[in-house]
Amino acid sequence: MSYLVVVAHPDDEVLGAGATIYKLTQAGEKVDVCILCGQAAARKFRPDDNELEEDTESSMRLLGVNQVIKGDFPNIKFNTVPHLELVQFIERAIIESEATVVITHHPADLNNDHLHTSLACQAAVRLFQRRTDVKPLNELLYMEIPSATEWALNDSMNKFQPNTFFEVGKEAVEKKIEALSQYRGVMREYPHPRSREALVGLAAYRGGQSGCCYAESFECAIRRITIHV
Ligand SMILES: [Zn+2]
Repeated sequence: MSYLVVVAHPDDEVLGAGATIYKLTQAGEKVDVCILCGQAAARKFRPDDNELEEDTESSMRLLGVNQVIKGDFPNIKFNTVPHLELVQFIERAIIESEATVVITHHPADLNNDHLHTSLACQAAVRLFQRRTDVKPLNELLYMEIPSATEWALNDSMNKFQPNTFFEVGKEAVEKKIEALSQYRGVMREYPHPRSREALVGLAAYRGGQSGCCYAESFECAIRRITIHV
């Protein structure tokens, strides 16, 4: 299996799947990350692009990420970008990473860039049906981003419903917090959802929900199983 985590902004990949990424890479799996908006502009507490680049690099190194594929789509303005451009960028990332499992945002997230990332990803993962040289997709998972997913207030959308739980253990939760702390200004004081207490508490709760020792949860959008005999 080859994993690709497709996110709108730097730090989303850690918030949503940091502990899972760490566990996977520790087990020798290949995980790539695609960040559609790699720029610092319009982000609070991000003085310049160089610092953000350093933060991303050091965070990804901690988690053992194989490579980061960065776009320069405009922050909080994905709604101004043609859908096709987002789809094609993600398709190129899928080809480059040879991903068979794609993890991305839930489409009901409050953050509008997350919605557009999710929609573009849903289209992009079908690439293998149009091109026989592309590895077939096994799974598309939506992740939960503390401070965005729980703020899905629009009742006309289907909200995040976790049905897939990845046991990570306490050590990987600590790694997630360490990786998130590499991003300047992201961690906050409790009761903010991006505080140590809330992140450990969420992992403990998701673990308790699923009989796991600390977990990150996902919603499986599609899973294809092929048995070769
Ligand atoms: Zn985000």
